[in-house]
Amino acid sequence: VIRCRAAVAWAAGHPLSIEEVEVAPPKAGEVRIKLVATGICRTDEHLLQGCFPKAEFPVIPGHEGAGIVESVGEGVTSVKPGDKVIPLCHPQCGECSFCLNPESNYCQKSHFSEPQNLLPDKTTRFTCKGKQIHHFLWVSTFAEYTVVPEYAVAKIDPAAPLDKVCLLGCGLSTGYGAAINTAKVKPGSTCAIFGLGGVGLSVVMGCKAAGASRIIAVDINKDKFAKAKELGATDCINPQECKKPVQEVLTEMTGHGVDYSFEAIGYAETMIAALASCNMSTGICVMVGELDSGSKIPLDPALLLNGRTWKGSVLGGWKVRDCIPKLVSSYLEKKFNSDLLITHTLPFAKVNEGFELLRAGK
Ligand code: NAD
Ligand code: ZN
Repeated sequence: VIRCRAAVAWAAGHPLSIEEVEVAPPKAGEVRIKLVATGICRTDEHLLQGCFPKAEFPVIPGHEGAGIVESVGEGVTSVKPGDKVIPLCHPQCGECSFCLNPESNYCQKSHFSEPQNLLPDKTTRFTCKGKQIHHFLWVSTFAEYTVVPEYAVAKIDPAAPLDKVCLLGCGLSTGYGAAINTAKVKPGSTCAIFGLGGVGLSVVMGCKAAGASRIIAVDINKDKFAKAKELGATDCINPQECKKPVQEVLTEMTGHGVDYSFEAIGYAETMIAALASCNMSTGICVMVGELDSGSKIPLDPALLLNGRTWKGSVLGGWKVRDCIPKLVSSYLEKKFNSDLLITHTLPFAKVNEGFELLRAGK
């Protein structure tokens, strides 16, 4: 058993509290990881606010981390102590029908099929003050050590800087892949991205890498526009400064609407606006943002009648265990610069300040 620090969410709507926790050794098929760095994603905020489906408290949040294997359980062969790894909040078991389908990155062991508040044997490896603490998406990266199933770990290049490539555990991979894999953005096309957080800015990078000629970035926080332009946006729009609904503005700017639109916020209204912004025939809208659990979208089916496509994308459509190591190599080859997404670096004990910065749009 390892004693270390972790940020525990004892109940929804409360700040995290830094506690000493006990982390049990990995059981068969599991890997214990010493985490070195983690990002903060809006999905962690959904969890803290009690809006993440099927989550349970107390819980150790965090799902965008990188670290080093400390020990492995019986039967683990793909990683060994000392390996640099990214724990995966979306697994790839390699055996289910979707993992075997080259078109799909959905694994039936993902949290959409079964909650990941406990490890697959239905027990936790975390205790604090004698209480069992839940895992989050199995990975719980807001801890100095964590235990995850082997099929939720990607071994990466030992040259990778962990404080940078942790972003590939969620935000970068999600946004970049939504453009490249899910939308399959074509060279010369037009794109619109709603929401310019870590995920939306990564969509901008993906559209640029795919050769889009016009990339229109949409956000109500104009402080995000400089970074969006640096990453490849050609135009930036603040819907609050438009006299018409933003979907009408985008349709006028492009003639019939963009070829590809993306929602990376997580609101019903912006999902509808993004859908209506792509052209009504061949337009493709990719939903990346997550709605609060239980919410619904009122949809006029006429939006889809002429052929528009509305798709969702989880972790950018990557088959994670196969592709995250390749993305890390692309990062090392400077094919994209995700370092530009890093706005602040804080010591672990200031994790609540990190959330304040996220809430303040900084
Ligand atoms: P973030 O909070 O950093 O960014 C959200 C951005 O949206 C902010 O810049 C904000 O100003 C902007 N925004 C808010 N309301 C708006 C409005 N009405 N119109 C235009 N812009 C608006 O969040 P993030 O970490 O980038 O995550 C974005 C979303 O993606 C979240 O819903 C998150 O849960 C989801 N997500 C999905 C996946 C997936 O696999 N599908 C993975 C990670 C995150
Ligand atoms: Zn995330």
